[in-house]
Amino acid sequence: MKEARVKNSDKILSIGKIVCVGKNYMDHIKEFDGEIPEKPVLFLKPPSAVIYNGGKIIHPGYANDLQYEAELILLIKASIKNALPDEAEKAIAGYGVGIDATMRDEQFNLKKRGLPWTTSKCFDTSAPISDFISSEDYHLTLEEELSLIQNGTVKQKESLKKMIFPPVSLVQYISSVMTLEKGDIIFTGTPAGVGNMYSGDKITAEITGIAKLDVTVE
Ligand code: MG
Repeated sequence: MKEARVKNSDKILSIGKIVCVGKNYMDHIKEFDGEIPEKPVLFLKPPSAVIYNGGKIIHPGYANDLQYEAELILLIKASIKNALPDEAEKAIAGYGVGIDATMRDEQFNLKKRGLPWTTSKCFDTSAPISDFISSEDYHLTLEEELSLIQNGTVKQKESLKKMIFPPVSLVQYISSVMTLEKGDIIFTGTPAGVGNMYSGDKITAEITGIAKLDVTVE
């Protein structure tokens, strides 16, 4: 069983489903097919993919390009369905930073053939997460900056303001598709600058004032 921890509290939630949002920053969309979505693009990762601060990302071996995607992540604390904006906001337990590790060549091959992305996104260690800062202690302004640093070099750096669909509207939309439950996590999408990770890399994902996550690549 994988768990999510809320900083400065004894709150530990068993992780349920992990809902990931694709194409949520314009500059990242331009890196790929350039198609702007009318609604958030959603896919899932299993809780078994989770690792924590200090953990190791392990290349799954069946394709080549293992890539990082730094993302703001949300922890859900209540069961909600068809949430109104204030219900969606109240259901967020806290904020953290995560890496949506992706086998990019595998994903491109699957997309090209019209197949689900599962094997590119759901492998073990593909969901490193930080601890969460409680939404009771911290008010998200979207002025925060998200960054990813690979071996000391900044590879991704963007303001959370650049999200096409901000956190509350994502929670609201997802809850119209599937019931969100206590312990669910939402990965809110990555900005531009995604790239390959290699064995021995030291990777840091950070959101100013919220969380920092250090992992290595085996
Ligand atoms: Mg992503």
